Amino acid sequence: MSKTNLSGVLYEQALKVIPGGVSRNSVMRKPHPVYASHGEGCYVTDVEGVKRIDFANNMSSLIHGHGRPEVVAAVTEQLHKGTVFTMATEVEMRFAEHLCARSANFEKVRFVNSGTEAVMTCIKAARAFTGRQKIAKIEGAYHGTYDYAEVSQTAKPNTWGEVNAPKSVPVAYGTPLSVLEDVIILPFNDIERALVILDQYSGQVAGILIDLMPHHVGLLSATPDFVRALHQWGRDNGALLIVDEVITFRNHYGGAQEAYDVTPDLTALGKIIGGGFPVGGIAGRADVLDVTNPLSNKFLFPQSGTFSANNITMTAGLVSMQLLDTCALEKLNSLGEYAREQLREAIRIADVSACVSGQGSMFRIHFTSDLPNNYREVYASPVEEKQAQQFIDYLFQHGIALMNTGTGALSTAMTDVEIDKMAEVALQGLRQLKKAATVKGE
Ligand code: PMP
Repeated sequence: MSKTNLSGVLYEQALKVIPGGVSRNSVMRKPHPVYASHGEGCYVTDVEGVKRIDFANNMSSLIHGHGRPEVVAAVTEQLHKGTVFTMATEVEMRFAEHLCARSANFEKVRFVNSGTEAVMTCIKAARAFTGRQKIAKIEGAYHGTYDYAEVSQTAKPNTWGEVNAPKSVPVAYGTPLSVLEDVIILPFNDIERALVILDQYSGQVAGILIDLMPHHVGLLSATPDFVRALHQWGRDNGALLIVDEVITFRNHYGGAQEAYDVTPDLTALGKIIGGGFPVGGIAGRADVLDVTNPLSNKFLFPQSGTFSANNITMTAGLVSMQLLDTCALEKLNSLGEYAREQLREAIRIADVSACVSGQGSMFRIHFTSDLPNNYREVYASPVEEKQAQQFIDYLFQHGIALMNTGTGALSTAMTDVEIDKMAEVALQGLRQLKKAATVKGE
């Protein structure tokens, strides 16, 4: 493919000024990260000139791929007018109106600059509203890097404890013990165990945080019964339901929650709603969000941010979300279904032990014969991990970029041509894996 190794050269220089050479580990590759040059539609081209179909889409945040003309035009116009002011702007209000119109569960919305900040703000709002400290979350679920939200995100067999009593495992060395004490860990989709655990803390829980299709829990879907049970427990015990839709907002017009018969109190938004720019959003009950309202007598949580609701993000976000109407979403989700079917077909033809999870416009491949049920089952054995890495690398070397977890996120810039190409390369990759395993007798 490439004849030069400019990425390697750039990385050598980066290592001198950036720890590990990168500001986010998700772009790390061996022997070095590949440096991007430019993107166009559903393609991304690296500095060596190699063009790939982009199924990573900046970790699922680019719902329209790269350089959607309407977004580029609106942002370019706004750049000339100013990027951000110490003044309120109309576009912030218009974007809030748009998001509130997408879901009856969004009575009000505030903007921040990342998914991490959105989840953090939801947690702080829930604490302020309930006057309680603890939050409950799902073992292994990724919600960004706020101390409380990241607990047990990277739990391992030697640290995660008994299945009936999952331990609160810190991600970062030095996490205060008090943080761990205030985070209750629940097993995914296990109603009985989750309720027994929650009952030990009744009267102390501010909120239950859940992603309805947690990426790090295998991109498996939360069962409606599980979500209903958590919601009901919250109702019975005065705890809020916080749904993290930073990734899953792309699943339906009003987010993944549209397919569940619960009313989340708060929703964390991010990724696609920024139209390619840094963003986060906190949407939900007006009375809960009043804790951030300086005009309210329930103003208990002063919340702010220098670049919150900046004009570039608001402009790009509004145009992107307007373009993602029900028709565009339906088309995108059908393409997602087609991608999962094609991948399953490739697995069947290659006759390998693998399966596919995901919903809407996302997919993830697992190197096990059956779908896992929770984080502990998703946690890959060394053989599975090696196979997944080899598969991701094979695809990357043959023109298909996935996320480093083996997850793919489609964009509206794609058609079945790109899906067919991905499935064709996946089949070759799986055949290669099978051949290597047969030779080794694995
Ligand atoms: N929640 C979920 C479900 C996420 O996937 C992510 C990011 N991958 C976050 C929160 C954090 O978002 P950000 O990276 O924008 O801080």
